[in-house]
Order: sequence, then C-alpha cells, then structure tokens
Amino acid sequence: MNKDITLITVYDNYQHNLKLRTGFGFACLIKVNNKSILFDTGSESETLLYNLGQLGVEPESVEMIVLSHAHGDHTGGLKGFLEANEHKAKVYQPRAFRKPTEICPNVYSTGALGLFISEQALVVKSAPGLIIITGCAHPGIVNMVKKAKEIGEEVYLVLGGFHLGDAKTVIKDFKAMGVKKVAPSHCTGDLAIKQFEEEYKENFIANGVGKVIKI
Ligand SMILES: [Zn+2]
Ligand SMILES: [Zn+2]
Repeated sequence: MNKDITLITVYDNYQHNLKLRTGFGFACLIKVNNKSILFDTGSESETLLYNLGQLGVEPESVEMIVLSHAHGDHTGGLKGFLEANEHKAKVYQPRAFRKPTEICPNVYSTGALGLFISEQALVVKSAPGLIIITGCAHPGIVNMVKKAKEIGEEVYLVLGGFHLGDAKTVIKDFKAMGVKKVAPSHCTGDLAIKQFEEEYKENFIANGVGKVIKI
C-alpha cells in the first residue's frame, strides 16, 4: 500500500497559502511512491510555475501529467509546463483509458466517463482508503466516485472540482457511498462548499491553492 502520500493544490481559484497566486482552473501535485504526478495544469503556466517555485517543486521532478478533461482551465498550462519540465513527463490525455487502469503502483485513472465531455479522475490507493481527485466532474461527481469504487471499496477522500449547484442530494449519496473526507474547490460552487462544510464538519477540508494534505 502507498505510504507518505502528499497532495498539494498548486492551481485553484480559491486561496489557501497567501504566498501563492490564484487563477481560474485547477491543478494538484501528488507525491506518491517517490514519484510526482501533476493532475491538470490550470489555465496558464506562468501562475502554475510560480506556485511550484514558491513550494520548492522543480518542474523536472514531475514524471507524469494526468489531464482530467479538455477544458482550457485544466490544460492551458500544459505547453509552458512541459517546456520547463524539458518534456520529461509522460502525459495521459482525458481519453487515454476506457476503464479503470493502473498507471503506476496503486495509482489509477478511472478511465473516461461522460457522453459529452470525456473526463477521468485520478485515484490513489492509501491505507485509509481511496483518494479520488477530480478536475470538474462534468460526468457527475457521484458517477465518478461510483466508478472509482471499482478500484477499491473504502473512499477516504474526494478532492477537486465537483461542479455543483445545490449539493444536498450529492452529500446524501456521498454518505451512502461511505466517503469519509471531502476537499472541494475550483468549480464546486460557493453554496455547495458551504453545504459540505456544514455536513462534513471536521471531515471537511478547506481547499485552495497551497493546501497541503498528507496521508
Ligand atoms: Zn471543465
Ligand atoms: Zn474547470
């Protein structure tokens, strides 16, 4: 099982660490198995590279990039990032897989979901359960969590953009699926974030650029 997993939100429209810059979009750096994986790249590389620099992350250290879906606020930073990364990272496009697939030990893509907008989530197996990271969750956050559960039974954390209006029924579904912790950000919506905070209490993690979560 993976040990010492670190998740860092490196691009987001919400602020957590005041030393970093916000921007519309999402990117999360995942450190696992001594590998660094970048999930999404935000809208542009300047902010992304600035934030990584403030966090002491060398772009060349990133070995894999997983793109959730082909929207500019998730892919816009790719070109500039790859230049800084000297094109060392392997890039997994949103339609890279059709079903849950392991991309490195205990790290999976859910495979592409969605009829109109193809989107994949990244899933990391950890001791307390699955960690599910989503870009915008256009195919539906509940559908994406359901798909991820084909990889493992327990869901420890769901993090990223959930793309919601009113989150009441989603929160009910999350609880029924046994989702332990949530860290919504990006396109989740202010109302939905507030509802998650009220319902999940100490298991709600306020997410934003610069937020570091260690598992
Ligand atoms: Zn989107
Ligand atoms: Zn988005």
